[in-house]
Amino acid sequence: SAAPLGNSVIPIVNKLQDIFAQLGSQSTIELPQVAVVGSQSSGKSSVLEALVGRDFLPRGSDICTRRPLVLQLLQTKRNPDGTDEEYGEFLHLPGKRFYDFSEIRREIQAETDREAGGNKGVSDKQIRLKIFSPNVLDITLVDLPGITKVPVGDQPSDIEARIRTMIMSYIKVSSCLILAVTPANSDLANSDALQIAGNADPDGLRTIGVITKLDIMDRGTDARNLLLGKVIPLRLGYIGVVNRSQEDIILNRSIKDALVAEEKFFRSRPVYNGLAERCGVPQLAKKLNQILVQHIKQVLPGLKSRISTALVSVAKEHASYGEITESKAGQGALLLNILSKFSEAFSSMVEGKNEEMSTS
Ligand code: GDP
Ligand code: MG
Repeated sequence: SAAPLGNSVIPIVNKLQDIFAQLGSQSTIELPQVAVVGSQSSGKSSVLEALVGRDFLPRGSDICTRRPLVLQLLQTKRNPDGTDEEYGEFLHLPGKRFYDFSEIRREIQAETDREAGGNKGVSDKQIRLKIFSPNVLDITLVDLPGITKVPVGDQPSDIEARIRTMIMSYIKVSSCLILAVTPANSDLANSDALQIAGNADPDGLRTIGVITKLDIMDRGTDARNLLLGKVIPLRLGYIGVVNRSQEDIILNRSIKDALVAEEKFFRSRPVYNGLAERCGVPQLAKKLNQILVQHIKQVLPGLKSRISTALVSVAKEHASYGEITESKAGQGALLLNILSKFSEAFSSMVEGKNEEMSTS
């Protein structure tokens, strides 16, 4: 099954690729990167894993993410027999395919130690990992070290400033979508995530608030007002999630079980009734998918003109060989055919998605 992130966008992008393929071109839309920011142990890696739907990131109560992990998802063709083949490949280990995702996690840890040492050191040197799968959208996700204040282990005294600079270098890019992760059991007004996201994206045009750990809030409190944006408003709003606890990690609980547990959590708490579209990892994926569809819509006119330019230059090339007389009619027909396919496919698909968005 498709990863939650991208499941509704994949058909649109695939269609686009088909059309480009008719032109003998690979090029397609470039989707924005998605980066997670927040303080240490707020649940950033957990959120990314849940969006990808696979277990492969180091997670834990201590500092786990100590180098930026640039995770490139790449869609592959399904096997002829219909089976899926999913594997990872690291830039630092070219040609070595990891089919076992727990081995990917071990390699991330080992490679983190190689560069940043074994004693909590942090480095801004990226780890680059590609995940090949028929079930993913071609998109890049960035897992970043969390903001910490007090140096521990081998960390330098200016650790906080260094991590902030590292995070900013990713999220200041104007196309980067920011998942600002804050645990529900801390004060939103002290959120490192919202603070740094606000620096990079002051108008809140590309920041989604993610509230984690709704399951371990203080008794008698709930996240209703947070999710409604009544505490700190955010243009794109907030989504509350329940990821796996440290105990779940130790017990090796699967992502699938965790999603079932999350659903049950929200269903059994009346205070979250009526907030369904702001609760749960699937809703977060949906929100991101909607933003990606909007992005595709925005870049469509540019793509369309690229297609016509490409076709015109093909026609010119033919003309320069003196074939124009025979092929003129054929070229014109081809151009018309591809452009009309392009428009049809997109108006129906993108509009279809919008209907889905507005009715749900
Ligand atoms: P990161 O440092 O921000 O990447 O955070 P991690 O994803 O590594 O998670 C830090 C710790 O918090 C781990 O022990 C997770 O199991 C735990 N955790 C993350 N999200 C939740 C949640 O929603 N509920 C509970 N109970 N624990 C969570
Ligand atoms: Mg992490």
